[in-house]
Amino acid sequence: MSSEISGRLNDKKKIEELKKKIERLKEEKNAVILAHNYQSLDVQSVADFKGDSLELAVAASKTEANIIVFCGVDFMAETAAVVNPDKKVLIPCKEARCPMASQLTPEMVRDAKNSGHPFVAYVNTLASVKAEADVCCTSANAPKIAKKFATKGKCFLGPDANLAAFASRVSGVNVEPVPSHGYCYVHKMFQVEDVERARKTYPEAEVMVHPECDVEVQLKADFVGSTSQMYRHAAESDSELFVVGTEVGLVERMNAEIEGKTFVPLRKAVCIEMKLNTLERVYLALKEEKNVVRVEESLAERARKAIEVMFGV
Ligand code: SF4
Repeated sequence: MSSEISGRLNDKKKIEELKKKIERLKEEKNAVILAHNYQSLDVQSVADFKGDSLELAVAASKTEANIIVFCGVDFMAETAAVVNPDKKVLIPCKEARCPMASQLTPEMVRDAKNSGHPFVAYVNTLASVKAEADVCCTSANAPKIAKKFATKGKCFLGPDANLAAFASRVSGVNVEPVPSHGYCYVHKMFQVEDVERARKTYPEAEVMVHPECDVEVQLKADFVGSTSQMYRHAAESDSELFVVGTEVGLVERMNAEIEGKTFVPLRKAVCIEMKLNTLERVYLALKEEKNVVRVEESLAERARKAIEVMFGV
């Protein structure tokens, strides 16, 4: 046996052992693992629940477990702690911070609101920003929220300017982005040329993209939606081949779970921060109950209000 093959077998064995240890700890500690669609397949395989930000926030608010291990980035784990203050929320890697979330500050929200129009905070924001907002939204419900809360046909939405443009186009109201050019570096990677190339290479495929992609890319796609909306659309569609413009974790998940269909990435786009949560880090966080996510209660109370307003829609 070559050393390369035996190395791979050892890695596989190590991964399987880690998975078993994690499952044992989950039972011993009454813990639950929530994993975002952008996590690696190994991390997804130990999750009790997988989904997009909205689904994970709902799952976090309903769980009876004592410990939530949140496999995602900082703002997601914070949201879990905000909606479920009595539980211990752990994040496998403390450095898993979304670069887009830091593009919007509480001061920017307060300044925008001085104009009298409401502020819709994308769930991809820190609790300090949510605390200043009127309501939260996710990529799945942004148009609906914008339409419901706009006053005199206008509201603000941040930090993702492409999501604001998408919400505006679908809802018909003026959704002004704050900041004016907030973006996710992963979805910025997708270009119009990628869609044109995919159309030539896979003429029979449906092209699905995330609303964080540039508007020009969205307009060239067959379907624009959140990761869970893409998942559901693909499962229900008659098409058998899909080209997918979002982080590669979702592409891997759909290839693994949706039988009889094939998913090709529009471009291999990886969120480095999401991938900081490895299986080993999940194990260590749960074993040592480390990397506890804490949100000060007076801040959490205000952030919770904006999230609950969204849940009520
Ligand atoms: S994919 Fe984009 S929005 Fe999501 S965590 Fe990574 S950088 Fe943030």
